[in-house]
Amino acid sequence: MADRRPPEVDRAAASRRAVEMRRARAALKSALKAGRLDPRQLVDAALGDPGSPAGSLRVTDFLLSLPAMGQTKADQALDELGISWRKRVGGLGAVQAVRLRAFLEARDARRAARLGIRRSRLVVLAGPTAVGKGTVAGYIRRNHPDVLLSVSATTREPRPGEVDGVDYYFVSDAEFDRMIRDGELLEWATVHGAHRYGTPRKPVEDALAAGRSVLLEIDLQGARSVRRAMPGALLVFLAPPSWDELVRRLTKRGTEDPVEQGRRLETAKVELAAEGEFDHVVVNRDVGEAAQQVVDLMDAR
Ligand code: 5GP
Repeated sequence: MADRRPPEVDRAAASRRAVEMRRARAALKSALKAGRLDPRQLVDAALGDPGSPAGSLRVTDFLLSLPAMGQTKADQALDELGISWRKRVGGLGAVQAVRLRAFLEARDARRAARLGIRRSRLVVLAGPTAVGKGTVAGYIRRNHPDVLLSVSATTREPRPGEVDGVDYYFVSDAEFDRMIRDGELLEWATVHGAHRYGTPRKPVEDALAAGRSVLLEIDLQGARSVRRAMPGALLVFLAPPSWDELVRRLTKRGTEDPVEQGRRLETAKVELAAEGEFDHVVVNRDVGEAAQQVVDLMDAR
């Protein structure tokens, strides 16, 4: 009969790897316990690489490593989140991951409120074209001057009434290339297959360091890049009340010719499908209401 056991040498290597993984997991748990590692960062790392030490950590062990979390609270949390105690963080489904992130956010907000800490945070507002991101962001700029609304750089031409340095930094292709080369952009993307848009890194980092919250009004690709670069960012999806309403808003705006409108509607279909990747969804029925909801999410302190 064939011997199915792996050769001795392989078994030794496998057990060495298992020991290393256990050690790495133990290090992660003590970093969480000591507050040196943001649990949201661990979740992002785990989901990004399920085979890593973070990914192979059981959700129960993860929860039990959070400060002030005992067995009873952990069991209760697993129950509420609909996650089995056997589940590993890297093996969470998309819905479970969203729920776990929201749970961690809420915990952090409660802790900050208890300690009277004002949390600065990076919030990304994304959503399909013409949904009214710009209007909602503008409303927040006027009514909440404590929040920094990041001004993007773009290679597109200014529209009538747009002001350089306020609406965008309008730059040439060569200047945009230079900004990328010099690492000045936190993220950038070619939007609607036409022009490039990017978020200048320094004002964002300076504002966060000074304890201010920052709002980025960017496209979906940008939102994904920010999530990778800054896992603690809160991603908010601004959704239209309906598809017909979205089409109406895009055609009414009248700033794009029919070809450009068609191109933007095609992008919008793809963008709408990404709603599930976001931490929160805000429906833009009324600008003031939607803006308030975004500010409330920002302010969940
Ligand atoms: P518009 O040309 O209508 O001003 O903007 C087109 C799209 O570019 C919008 O969806 C807007 O959210 C996106 N956008 C604006 N600034 C940035 C940015 O800095 N980065 C990315 N990735 N997208 C941006």
